[in-house]
Amino acid sequence: MTLLSSLGRASRSAPLASKLLLLGTLSGGSIVAYSDSNADANKNEDQQLKKKKVVVLGTGWAGISFLKDLDITSYDVQVVSPQNYFAFTPLLPSVTCGTVEARSIVESVRNITKKKNGEIELWEADCVKIDPVNHKVHCRPVFKDDPEASQEFSLGYDYLIVAVGAQVNTFGTPGVLENCHFLKEVEDAQRIRRGVIDCFEKAILPGLTEEQRRRKLHFVIVGGGPTGVEFAAELHDFIIEDITKIYPSVKELVKITLIQSGDHILNSFDERISSFAEQKFTRDGIDVQTGMRVMSVTDKDITVKVKSSGDVVSIPHGLILWSTGVGTRPVISDFMEQVGQGGRRALATNEWLQVTGCENVYAVGDCASIAQRKIMGDIANIFKAADVDNSGTLTMEELQDVVDDILVRYPQVELYLKSQHMRNINDLLADSQGNARKEVDIESFKLALAEVDSQMKTLPATAQVAAQQGAYLAKCFNRMEQCKEQPEGPKRFRTGGHHQFRPFQYKHFGQFAPLGGDQAAAELPGDWVSAGRSAQWLWYSVYASKQVSWRTRALVVSDWTRRYIFGRDSSRI
Ligand code: FAD
Ligand code: MG
Repeated sequence: MTLLSSLGRASRSAPLASKLLLLGTLSGGSIVAYSDSNADANKNEDQQLKKKKVVVLGTGWAGISFLKDLDITSYDVQVVSPQNYFAFTPLLPSVTCGTVEARSIVESVRNITKKKNGEIELWEADCVKIDPVNHKVHCRPVFKDDPEASQEFSLGYDYLIVAVGAQVNTFGTPGVLENCHFLKEVEDAQRIRRGVIDCFEKAILPGLTEEQRRRKLHFVIVGGGPTGVEFAAELHDFIIEDITKIYPSVKELVKITLIQSGDHILNSFDERISSFAEQKFTRDGIDVQTGMRVMSVTDKDITVKVKSSGDVVSIPHGLILWSTGVGTRPVISDFMEQVGQGGRRALATNEWLQVTGCENVYAVGDCASIAQRKIMGDIANIFKAADVDNSGTLTMEELQDVVDDILVRYPQVELYLKSQHMRNINDLLADSQGNARKEVDIESFKLALAEVDSQMKTLPATAQVAAQQGAYLAKCFNRMEQCKEQPEGPKRFRTGGHHQFRPFQYKHFGQFAPLGGDQAAAELPGDWVSAGRSAQWLWYSVYASKQVSWRTRALVVSDWTRRYIFGRDSSRI
């Protein structure tokens, strides 16, 4: 029975007085209901008005990890990115040879953020200019061929999150842009896959000389970092396990060369790993050329200078992958010029990821780098803040009160203690015989901490760093109001009071280098190094678990299984 029908029946059977009462109750109720709904609408409007505008540039590792963790109830979020998907970059080398399909490593941004009830708006566009004075970003849609859908627009922001990543770096080497492949985006990986197969299809055509066939089947990789090494390994597996079976006539002519300017490949890894990789590549017949600098590239040759002898050599090639570190995107260079950071490689931020000189602009991931504060720059202020009785010396009790703040604010202290095998800061302040002191004066305090800043490290341009920064920033945004009233950060030694948040602290979970033939090298925290098949299985499980969605996880695992059973597909589509 509906509420209206029961009310109707009650009014028909009730006497006049009760009818009036009912009418009064109903109208009163409706007035209350009306004023309630009005109050709700006003509250919503107020909330909407109060909501701060957050604009996020980029949907890579840093941008997506920020968006995934952000509580959007108090923010109005708009995202600008030329890609409406997130790509799992560590598996790009596997896409170049078809071990994993391109669509298996991408997830639509709209899918990732849809749990936020569609309140996050995404614009498929490039940010072309950041205007920090007027708090605006200017954007250009990616649809260049459609005049209606390519009109530039601008967005205002209260907070801006810059997460546009980095671009390839050619170091100005002539011919690189025109003649080399890069491996940064999904489209790059797909182009390389087609390029490799093209080389084989061209090499078997009738009428070519053996020299021409050899040239077409010479694959050169410039850069012995993790990406170059992994691509060399993937390509070697693809050729040995799949391709030479279908192109037997040219299998003896294939060659892979890896060119590295330093003395060793994988030089950001433990020495044991780089020598394991070099030995494995030598056994596999991959020609590793170290100590060489690329001078120029044409469509047929690559010219290199041997550093030790100064000789210049020209090497014929069929396909080159250029993988030598990252450079700055033009929109970031322009922004850096505007905020007095011109000439840098990446945007400098403080330890809270705020761009130096722009409080409401944050930068995360490959486009940014933290300018860690030196403890020696603040040493007098630290001493003054700790010396609460103004005696000119610090007792161990006085020091104890600020030690946690020092460790949080200057993470290099902890790294230094570890490097010197010391347990705590008291060990650092011990006298020359190693005895604990009761108190220290400013000079001994300075002397004890003089070497600490040598342990400051810049963070590498990795997905691990970018994802942790995005998640950290979301956590700060989620507690912005709460922490304004109750700051949770360390003491401000220079100005007094406390910082609103704890500074960003990076946790390193280790790194992998897949080396082909189902072998990998792993470097895990605690100086744990492993190389071989067990490390490869660890790699499979870590990379499956790190997928951004269950859909991509299922697709990637099924691609790996398909490869085991049927091999890789070498159709050129
Ligand atoms: P990105 O992930 O590059 O994202 C940048 C985003 O910004 C993209 O969505 C891009 O479309 C968008 N964008 C670009 N220009 C603009 C603009 N003008 N306006 C708006 N948006 C823009 N790291 C690891 O830790 N482990 C690995 O195993 C590993 N393997 C890798 C393998 C390869 C082949 C590559 C290329 C990288 C690998 N990395 C790895 C490094 C890792 O991918 C990067 O460090 C990481 O992607 C950085 O994240 P980011 O969010 O800063 O930038
Ligand atoms: Mg004192």
